[in-house]
Amino acid sequence: MNEKILLVEDEAAIRMALSDRLESEGYVVECAVDGEKGYQQALRNSYDILLLDVMLPRKSGFDMCRDLRGAGVNIPILMLTARDQVVDKVVGLRMGADDYLTKPFEPAELVARIEALLRRSRNPAGDAVRQYGELRIDLRGTTVTREGKPVPLSAREYRLLEYFVTHCGITLSRDELLREVWGYSTEVFSRTVDVHVGSLRQKIECDAKKPQLILTVPGLGYKFVG
Ligand code: CA
Repeated sequence: MNEKILLVEDEAAIRMALSDRLESEGYVVECAVDGEKGYQQALRNSYDILLLDVMLPRKSGFDMCRDLRGAGVNIPILMLTARDQVVDKVVGLRMGADDYLTKPFEPAELVARIEALLRRSRNPAGDAVRQYGELRIDLRGTTVTREGKPVPLSAREYRLLEYFVTHCGITLSRDELLREVWGYSTEVFSRTVDVHVGSLRQKIECDAKKPQLILTVPGLGYKFVG
């Protein structure tokens, strides 16, 4: 079964590049060139996921998102924006978006986020318990054990681990981790992320010097691999 994506993007070059890429991944892609058309299309047809640019003619991605949620459309929505501003993300999430990607991005990054959202929407509760070798994470019970023994994590370490696990396979920048786990964004504190990743590795990795779960992506950030 091929999942169906609605891509609402007014820039022809980006629209074509993304739909080509997504079709090559096996998705069925339909496009809309402005917010009003996209909104009507999303109401009339059934899609598995919506990709909405924020800056769109006739109706912004934010307004589309808000109105679709208001109309009871609850499929996953991934917002795409050219502006790397925290306010955009906050507004987007408040309007009911599920995830957020800042342009320019690697197509592989978009695909990874789409897959993560589809996994969550297909199986919202089923993967509450994740097992990685000897490490077991119960996301609902918020408990972590290794070889059957509890791993004592601080609240912040747990939230960091939870964010990694729910974004498995996705490269996460220090800025994103700061925003999501600490709730603020500033370059000055990006060391904070490294310190916490270091202590988390000490607790969950077999050998913290050769991490197998939380990998460093040079120049970009970190990636949790299952
Ligand atoms: Ca645009």
